[in-house]
Amino acid sequence: MQTERAYKYRFYPTPEQEILLARTFGCVRFVWNAVLRYRTDAFYEHKEKIGYNDASIFLTQLKKQPDTAFLAEVSSVPLQQCLRHQQTAFKHFFAKRANYPRFKSKKHRQSATFASSAFSYRNGEIALAKCKEPLNIRWSRELPSAPSTVTVSQDRAGRYFISCLCKVDAESLTITPKMVGIDLGLKDLFVTSDGRRVNNPRHTVRHARKLARAQRQLSRKQKGSNNRAKAKQKVARRHAKIADTRLDHLHKLTRQIVNENQVICAESLTVKNMIKNRSLAKAISDVGWGELVRQLDYKAAWAGRQFVQIDRWYPSSKRCHGCGFVVESLPLNVRTWDCPDCGTQGIDRDINAARNILQAGTALLAGAES
Ligand SMILES: [Zn+2]
Repeated sequence: MQTERAYKYRFYPTPEQEILLARTFGCVRFVWNAVLRYRTDAFYEHKEKIGYNDASIFLTQLKKQPDTAFLAEVSSVPLQQCLRHQQTAFKHFFAKRANYPRFKSKKHRQSATFASSAFSYRNGEIALAKCKEPLNIRWSRELPSAPSTVTVSQDRAGRYFISCLCKVDAESLTITPKMVGIDLGLKDLFVTSDGRRVNNPRHTVRHARKLARAQRQLSRKQKGSNNRAKAKQKVARRHAKIADTRLDHLHKLTRQIVNENQVICAESLTVKNMIKNRSLAKAISDVGWGELVRQLDYKAAWAGRQFVQIDRWYPSSKRCHGCGFVVESLPLNVRTWDCPDCGTQGIDRDINAARNILQAGTALLAGAES
């Protein structure tokens, strides 16, 4: 079986490439925002849904108008790709899987996607359309095949990255009889049915201290000064470092879970979102459940493992795994409880939940009524 896989590298643009990239990012952002505005207005004013083709016609008109003719100066491919991305974002929104798409700001991560017609891959080098020189990429590992698309981005710390989408043969792992249920949490990142507790990475605490110092320094600098710009960059670099560490940590964890288990069960994020309240929302986005689930999903698929997401509400915490009795209420601060029905004492809230999730997941797999 072949799957597509992304390979991400850092690269260092020449001053010339930097100008072209900044212009391309600017045009992509402009098109995203203009089309989003067009769609939003059409939806609110005429209850009309704008599809990909209408958006594409709208973009063609923009390029012809004198005040937005600058759009024709960059490769048309990333602009077209940006329409596709927005189409997908709306698809997720209408399927209630995501929030309404947001306007893009200059302050956030910038990106542009180039399909195969807009870049060349020759002698292990990548050159973008309208750029003579190939990109100076720091190849941390080899590409398995010629990429089908590449996405160029710049993070808030000013670093440039290129993500190459390549076809690879899926690595099927040897089948194991092991199965695991995962309860996503806040105090612990997750707890497994076999009793493993995984904390949120501790090392981010050290980074957080450095971030706080950088933020304090920034607040003392005068607005508009050169030193303020430098301090701002420093804060952005700290944020980037924390995000990198967190992502690294998640990759290691998901790799291990997928290697060790044939079947992995978790509650879907739709279910998790139902039980969250507003004060928990930030904590949830901080721990990165979405990224964890995303990684488990694709890594399991590559490895021939099964990742089961339980998509309807199930009393995983309040149900005694031993006898199936469901207690009426179980406040969040209660970490262990005793089952009034079968008399089991000291039931660990999270492990019990993870075991119920595993049971519900395997029942789903078997197609049985649960
Ligand atoms: Zn019981």
